[in-house]
Formats: sequence, structure tokens, C-alpha cells
Amino acid sequence: APMLVYKDVRKRYGSFTALDGVSLHVNPGEVVCLIGPSGSGKSTLLRCTNGLETLDGGEVLFEGKPLPKSDVEMRGVRQRMGMVFQNFELFPHKTALENVATGLITVKKMPADEANRRAMALMAKVGLSDKTANYPSNLSGGQQQRVAIARALAMEPHVMLFDEPTSALDPETVGEVLNVMRQLALEGMTMIVVTHEMSFARRVASWVVVFEKGKLLEEGPPTQIFDAP
Ligand code: ADP
Ligand code: ADP
Repeated sequence: APMLVYKDVRKRYGSFTALDGVSLHVNPGEVVCLIGPSGSGKSTLLRCTNGLETLDGGEVLFEGKPLPKSDVEMRGVRQRMGMVFQNFELFPHKTALENVATGLITVKKMPADEANRRAMALMAKVGLSDKTANYPSNLSGGQQQRVAIARALAMEPHVMLFDEPTSALDPETVGEVLNVMRQLALEGMTMIVVTHEMSFARRVASWVVVFEKGKLLEEGPPTQIFDAP
């Protein structure tokens, strides 16, 4: 069964139509890349997935159930979705390790020593074992984004949503973030990735969706999208 099903999803901002009837499904273990011009609705679709926005029409099914309307129920759903933003959004007054451990302590009610052990393992996974004590301001953009990925993974999400995760980075740190994402994909993580990194989409995506003006212009495997005559 698909992990996510979007049925005729519609979203307006005032008189502007951001999503104009989007239908799509995402199977477990798939990496779906959303590409297309800026303003075409890609980010809005992610925000409609994790409840940062409400729909104006259609529906989103997550693991077979419609997204709940109530904030309390939505919080439970959001715990199963990891979100990574363009601008990292780490807690500035916490160290890298604390950023990763804090959700385990406050949300998952894990004892602090166990949470720290788990956070250490995740810092190692993203290649930052030597940066656990750094504050975000003392990390490069690429390092901050890897901490943000570790923080999201700490909650053991069923799907990871990436909203232009490398767009705010210096070019020399883009690759280290894409490598972590590619590794996650190889491990079977279900991922939806809004990106302008076409080589990543071509090499890592199982399915590529091209947005234009709030609609799906085209979708298919990367070979079909990128290599068509
Ligand atoms: P439906 O779900 O009603 O079949 P869709 O338009 O969602 O309609 O999909 C049409 C076909 O495209 C599917 O039967 C499937 O073969 C393929 N497809 C759609 N989304 C995906 C995806 N995320 N991964 C792989 N194949 C997909
Ligand atoms: P993309 O991710 O493809 O660049 P977005 O989904 O971010 O596109 O945005 C689609 C359109 O919706 C944009 O033109 C944007 O200006 C508009 N939009 C997004 N969020 C809001 C908002 N909160 N209020 C008004 N307009 C918005």
C-alpha cells in the first residue's frame, strides 16, 4: 500500500491558486523528487503533507488514513514525518547534540543518557562525531543541515520531507548534504525531496514529478523525465 496518497489536492492563497488538483502516490522506500519552476507549488505540497497548511480541496492519505483535522492528532502524525527546511531552523542556543537529543527527551520521554547516546549515533551517521559540542553558529551551512537531518531522523520518521535542503548552502557544502540524503535513500527511507539539484534527482529519485503552475506537468522515472528525446 502507498505511504502517501494525494487525491486532487487544492490550495489557494487568497485568489492565487498554489495547488490546482494534484494527484500522486508515494510508495514505501521510494524517493520522489519534486522539480519545476519557483512558485509552482512544490513546497506547498510538502506543507500540506505535514499539516503546516490545510487543504482547500481533495485529500491526503498517510499510511491509509486521511490527515487528521485536530492539532492533537496531527501532532502524532507529524512525529512520523521528518521535515528538513531550506534554512535548517536549528535551535540556536542548543549544541548540535542537544538539537538532535531534545525531541527524544521532550516528545519521546526518553531518559537523557539514552537520548544522548542515540543522538551521538546519529551525529556519527551524518559524519559529525567531532562537532557534537558546537553551537549552530559555529557550524557551516552543510554541517547545520546535516544536524537538521539527524534531528529529524531521531524521531524515527516513516517518511522524510526535504524542502530545498541545499538551496541556502555554499556550493562547496552541497555535496556533503546530498551524500547523506543518498545514503538514506539507499537504506530504504521513503523521501519526498523538493530540489533544483537535477543530478541528484536523476541519480537518486525513483520517481520525478515536474510541477508547473500548481499542476503536475509530467511524472515518471528519472530516465523518462531526463533522457526523453
Ligand atoms: P493511480 O494511482 O490511480 O494508478 P496515478 O496517476 O497516481 O494513478 O498513477 C498512474 C501510474 O503511474 C500508476 O499506476 C503507477 O504505475 C505510476 N506511478 C504513479 N506514481 C508513482 C510513484 N510514486 N512511483 C512509481 N510509480 C508511480
Ligand atoms: P515552489 O515550492 O514551487 O517554489 P511554493 O509552493 O513555495 O512554490 O509557492 C507557490 C506559490 O504560492 C508562490 O507563488 C507563493 O508566492 C505562494 N505562496 C506560498 N505561500 C504563501 C502564503 N503563505 N501566502 C501567500 N502566498 C503564498
